[in-house]
Amino acid sequence: PTGQSIDEARAEGERAFALDRAHVFHSWSAQEQITPMTILAAEGSYVWDGSGTRLLDFSSQLVNTNIGHQHPTVVAAVQAQAAKLCTIAPQYVNDARSEAARLIAERTPGDLNKVFFTNGGADAVEHAVRMARLHTGRYKVLSRYRSYHGGTDTAINLTGDPRRWPNDRGNSGIVHFNGPFLYRSQFHSADEAQETERALAHLDQLVAMEGPSTIAAIILESVPGTAGIMVPPPGYMAGVREICDRHGIVFIADEVMAGFGRTGKWFAIDHFDVVPDLITFAKGVNSGYVPLGGVAINAEIAATFANRAYPGGLTYSGHPLATAAAVATINAMEEEKIVENAARIGNEILGPGLRELAQRHPSIGDVRGLGVFWAIELVTDRQTREPLAPYGASSPAMNEVIAACKSAGLLPFANFNRIHAVPPCTVTDAEVREGLAILDTALSVADAHTAH
Ligand code: PMP
Repeated sequence: PTGQSIDEARAEGERAFALDRAHVFHSWSAQEQITPMTILAAEGSYVWDGSGTRLLDFSSQLVNTNIGHQHPTVVAAVQAQAAKLCTIAPQYVNDARSEAARLIAERTPGDLNKVFFTNGGADAVEHAVRMARLHTGRYKVLSRYRSYHGGTDTAINLTGDPRRWPNDRGNSGIVHFNGPFLYRSQFHSADEAQETERALAHLDQLVAMEGPSTIAAIILESVPGTAGIMVPPPGYMAGVREICDRHGIVFIADEVMAGFGRTGKWFAIDHFDVVPDLITFAKGVNSGYVPLGGVAINAEIAATFANRAYPGGLTYSGHPLATAAAVATINAMEEEKIVENAARIGNEILGPGLRELAQRHPSIGDVRGLGVFWAIELVTDRQTREPLAPYGASSPAMNEVIAACKSAGLLPFANFNRIHAVPPCTVTDAEVREGLAILDTALSVADAHTAH
């Protein structure tokens, strides 16, 4: 798809690989233990690796290419904006930024009608927390274990994930709690209703013990993504909203991964009929074509900064190329009914297909998700639910399963003992069936590690 010959593309890829190994420092990696895949080109739901082999992108990269790779109108919009005006400081008005803010505000629930733009998700979380602290005059922030909120200082501390070094800075003012997760319930619940009730009682007690007047915000992914796509059971998000209301705590919904169509609605929080005070977003807002994130702010918090300066900002806040990509992305998603496609694919093909695989593969312990946002949890024993890799680490068995997917032409998003099926929202029925067929083959590798 790049217009190059395959030999030219391979040669370019080989040179890039050598330079990468010499000079690029990779995230979340032991630098000498990785062999990163080269991607020479991408189009729609597919990428081409360093040898020119086509793979179905069931990862949407880092779950961000909601509109698929190289969408022509988004590419054209970025090109047109680059020709017109590449950069402008945030204090000046720019048409792409204004229009992107309007399109986002029209889609966020309730009165979240102001948008602060950032460069990505982590800085959106940093700013949401800063706004909540300034608005409430309080400091503590509560977040759940099994969550991901970003790789910067506050965001990584909010992240409830055990991958830490002993000298990582600890939880200064950040308190973690257990959210609902029936498959590995911390509350020994028998069903979803009990899990909701017990998880809310746990949070309620934690708020009481920490002192409600010290808590600025509770931040929750509307559907936790990286940590395992655990769709909150009915009533949980409404219960958190009620706890926040009772104590004047700001409710931040982190929609960086779940937002912009991924779950089959514009925002995942819309599944629960709850209106948060702040929404953080990034990724799907423009499918990552140019880095962009932001915070959608409700009227009450915006009013705090009406006559008192918000003491924060970024040079590239609302960057013209990034916001032009957002305008084109949101318009294309609307015109091509891409959010509706994600909902239908989840209900009719991807969800049922994964559940059908679970009937035949003893290595699948749990299947969960919605829209084009699904996870299968791999276990060595369905009875004990022993994971195929421990939480927070990889394992040789998991690596074998991932390698089997790749060698059969599927690029999954894998994390610990889970494979996430998170294709672009534009994915077709045939592509999903192709991905399911490859998973079917690769899962026999996982089955070989099971007790039964
Ligand atoms: N919040 C959530 C829910 C995320 O999934 C991520 C990224 N995976 C982030 C925040 C951080 O976003 P970024 O990597 O763009 O900084």
